[in-house]
Amino acid sequence: MARADGVIMHTYGRQPLVLVRGEGSRVWDAEGREYLDFVMGLAVCNLGHAHPEIARAAAAQLSQLVHVSNLYYTTPMVELAEELVRLSFGDRVFFCNSGAEAMEGAIKLCRRYAHERYGPGRHKIVCMQDSFHGRTIGALSATGQEKFWQGFEPLLPGFVFVPFNDLAALREALDDTVCAVLLEPIQGEGGVNPAEGDYLAAVRQLCTDKGILLVFDEVQCGLGRTGKLFAHEHYGVTPDVMALAKALAGGLPMGALLATEETARGFVPGTHASTFGGGPVIAAAANASLKILSDPAFLSAVRQKGDYLGEKLRHFQSRFPVIQEIRGLGLMWGIQLAQEGTPVVTACRERGLLVNCTQGNVIRLLPSLLVEKADIDQCLDILAQTLETVFS
Ligand code: PLP
Repeated sequence: MARADGVIMHTYGRQPLVLVRGEGSRVWDAEGREYLDFVMGLAVCNLGHAHPEIARAAAAQLSQLVHVSNLYYTTPMVELAEELVRLSFGDRVFFCNSGAEAMEGAIKLCRRYAHERYGPGRHKIVCMQDSFHGRTIGALSATGQEKFWQGFEPLLPGFVFVPFNDLAALREALDDTVCAVLLEPIQGEGGVNPAEGDYLAAVRQLCTDKGILLVFDEVQCGLGRTGKLFAHEHYGVTPDVMALAKALAGGLPMGALLATEETARGFVPGTHASTFGGGPVIAAAANASLKILSDPAFLSAVRQKGDYLGEKLRHFQSRFPVIQEIRGLGLMWGIQLAQEGTPVVTACRERGLLVNCTQGNVIRLLPSLLVEKADIDQCLDILAQTLETVFS
């Protein structure tokens, strides 16, 4: 930790923990201490740590062909794109390396599509307050949280913000300078805020009526996290464009942009690229990961475990007055506290449970989707002990 402090840029508030090994829902630190992991790389390790099928797929590809560039074709990438297209609304895929990069691609695709279709002047993207889309300058400009902007202005122009779940505000913002509406069906960093009721359906209708693209950022809430392969499936609507990343390659870095055939016309050769995008090793890992994540029996088990966790958390609300609200879906939950959440994170860690706090007071639970009921019970026990002692 001291060595890191001497050489690594100070961009993260890290926990004082050096992790050396992981398996399933557990990680071990350098002293051999075991932790139940309900952070899971912030929704990256959806199949837990060191999943053998992902390790096998990546290792086999690693000794066969690692990288050739997108000047050539490779089979794992094509297989992955075919699967993503088969499993989603999308007709075409662009591969990149992270969530922020997928967002950059989405911003460029929407702007260029609108430019080709309507001519110049239609470049604005309406985004949501409390959203999070990443740290590169375009993704940051689309992020509706001013605290992340400080010191980086001027940001990229052309982003307008409205409150999430407020249809009237959105309708008001949609003039003929707007090319797209961008939202997370369930806001993650914003505090685990799901889209409410028929809001998404109404947004879809508005966008369709006005010829405006609808973009879903499913970087965090997608890929099985909510008990459906994509969170928007809970709402019965599809977007024109969707960004994926985090869990896509089972822990290795990969992002993807999916779009309908019509929208994908916005990109032509030379308009967008990524050196590492869709590389064979990452794509092989993603193929292994997606095979499991898209299995209907697996997704049904996620929904069952998620309902169980959600119900138990709701009981906590009557037991612990410090809890203001419980929000979530599937295995993505937020416990909003009336007080600062950091002491809870620290006390849980001391008891062998890793959880994260977002927005200062929302304890976020993002377990492995293969988490066992006994692990959920252990997490709930530690959380209960912690809430009792920290706020007594
Ligand atoms: N979009 C959402 C919804 C996210 O939660 C995140 C990261 O937390 C991002 C985009 C950015 O992803 P990355 O950190 O891979 O750039």
